[in-house]
Amino acid sequence: MPSRKFADGEVVMGRWPGSVLYYEVQVTSYDDVAHLYTVKYKDGTELALKESDIRSQSSFKHRKSQSSSSSPSRRSSSRSRSRSRSPGRPAKGRRRSASQSREHKDDKKKIIQETSLALAVLVLFKPSENNTKRYNGEPESTEKNDTSCIILEPKLKPDLEIKRVLEQYSLRSRKDDKKTEEIFSEKKTFVAVKPIEKVPSKTKELEFGGRIGTFMLIFLLPVTVFYLLLMCKQDDPSLLNFPPLPALESLWEWRVFGVFLLWFFLQAVFSLLPIGKVVEGLPLSNGRKLQYRINGFYAFILTAAAIGVLLYFQFELHYLYDHFMQFAVSAAAFSLALSIYLYVRSLKAPEEELAPGGNSGYFIYDFFTGHELNPRIGSFDLKYFCELRPGLIGWVVINLAMLLAEMKIHNLSMPSLSMILVNSFQLLYVVDALWYEEAILTTMDITHDGFGFMLAFGDLVWVPFVYSLQAFYLVGHPTTITWPVAAAITVLNCIGYYIFRSANSQKNNFRRNPADPKLANLKFIPTATGKGLLVTGWWGFVRHPNYLGDIIMALAWSLPCGFNHILPYFYVIYFICLLVHREARDEHHCKQKYGLAWERYCQRVPYRIFPYIY
Ligand code: NDP
Repeated sequence: MPSRKFADGEVVMGRWPGSVLYYEVQVTSYDDVAHLYTVKYKDGTELALKESDIRSQSSFKHRKSQSSSSSPSRRSSSRSRSRSRSPGRPAKGRRRSASQSREHKDDKKKIIQETSLALAVLVLFKPSENNTKRYNGEPESTEKNDTSCIILEPKLKPDLEIKRVLEQYSLRSRKDDKKTEEIFSEKKTFVAVKPIEKVPSKTKELEFGGRIGTFMLIFLLPVTVFYLLLMCKQDDPSLLNFPPLPALESLWEWRVFGVFLLWFFLQAVFSLLPIGKVVEGLPLSNGRKLQYRINGFYAFILTAAAIGVLLYFQFELHYLYDHFMQFAVSAAAFSLALSIYLYVRSLKAPEEELAPGGNSGYFIYDFFTGHELNPRIGSFDLKYFCELRPGLIGWVVINLAMLLAEMKIHNLSMPSLSMILVNSFQLLYVVDALWYEEAILTTMDITHDGFGFMLAFGDLVWVPFVYSLQAFYLVGHPTTITWPVAAAITVLNCIGYYIFRSANSQKNNFRRNPADPKLANLKFIPTATGKGLLVTGWWGFVRHPNYLGDIIMALAWSLPCGFNHILPYFYVIYFICLLVHREARDEHHCKQKYGLAWERYCQRVPYRIFPYIY
């Protein structure tokens, strides 16, 4: 077994994928299994490189004297000059007039402009405009395939040079183009550089307040749920009217726990049914792709049928309402037990199966964020299952139970208009998530976060018991709204849903097939990974249009509860905080993935979620 040549922390020269250019990088870790180094460029981009793509800095010789090459600009004498080097730079010592040098400067600018706007070529040249040094010298043993880089072979005339680069990257010449925008729409500019597999390494940047933050969240999350539920049960759920604590023994009932387990395993059985297509997830760090059965919508139909049968046989679904707190306690106890199981089993998981975001080596942090990325029992994927099934479908069932409880308690022949709106809006949201189930495979939860307390508690307790707060509130606090108000709220929900759905579909379709003719009108910035970043359509409006739609819907879910208390608005307030935080996390990951291309995207689309506000 060859031992590693470069140590962690060592500053070396790393070859930029697909080019013969080397940039100064720092080795951050080494994967003994894959024999890959994780290196960090100065702009923060992290890539995994083979040893053969890394050179020591000393192996780069500076051209101290005039090169034998006939290329005039190869005669540059110092490394530091390379950054301002123009392909059209004249031979050292040759006199140029002021106008000539201006012309050449313009040529240089032109080339840089052409290329920098264009494509991944930009990234190939200079991963960071300001920080990354580009070296003139070639490593001693670098192949002489200089045609792949105009700056290393700058003897041609600028125009020819541009043409050559554009041709090389399948670009049409944009010499006469007036609008720089056009380059974004040119599908041919897409440089399909094979995505580089990221080697799983230790999580260095801790999120959620690190060890202390995650420790506190483990207590704070359950306390918040129980506080909200206790508040909701009060006649006057004002913030200052703190609810009396219930007796401990009243919080637990084995029968309720049994019903919860039955629900969980029934959903597990539905998910294992051999119906629905099987799709592959995104490639893992080892290049492997996991398979997922897409049958969430079928599970929902089967659940609806089962509930219909129960109601037909006079089963009192408001049992859920009567024992709501006990159900929440059962779900919390189960999610805690599940998290412990997940952490214990993750200790035996191979390094490559650990989550990029939950492998810090700190017990509390990894326990909270999830140590193992895709824990599976056979083909049963625990995280994928919990994300969409027991909690999400459970939320709809709880809402229905609240609706029936409202009718029973208030002796209504029909549910209130407010309750109908809340139920319908949230039903639409859940059905949408199940209908587009496949889209979850590309989300941060699946690709980045491990399965630990955060997601287990979030999926099994937070979603069903906190997201149903409006319906729960309406049972104890009847609210009357007029038809015009109901119509206005419905319009608001439809607007939110439209933004949410079209933004998500636009991105998902683009990710699945960037050449889709239906997306021909969309423009994008190519990136070095081969993926593009949409800069028109919804993703040119703000950087997370789907979050905007989601927040508008969240508001529409709270409005039917009136303005007597802030409690039913907890969801929208919390959700804004969640999505602002999530957006920041996603931006951070995207910055690492796409480097300069992401910065360009941010320049073009300056607002994150709320246009002209944030
Ligand atoms: P997103 O769907 O917002 O995806 C973010 C990813 O999209 C990025 O990491 C990047 O990934 C890609 N991307 C970013 N910008 C562009 C662009 N310009 N062009 C193309 N691709 C781009 O991720 P989430 O998982 O956060 O959200 C999914 C949905 O779930 C959202 O609608 C959100 O509102 C909802 N949600 C709901 C929650 C709830 O509790 N109700 C909680 C969290 C989310 P890459 O480039 O690698 O493809």
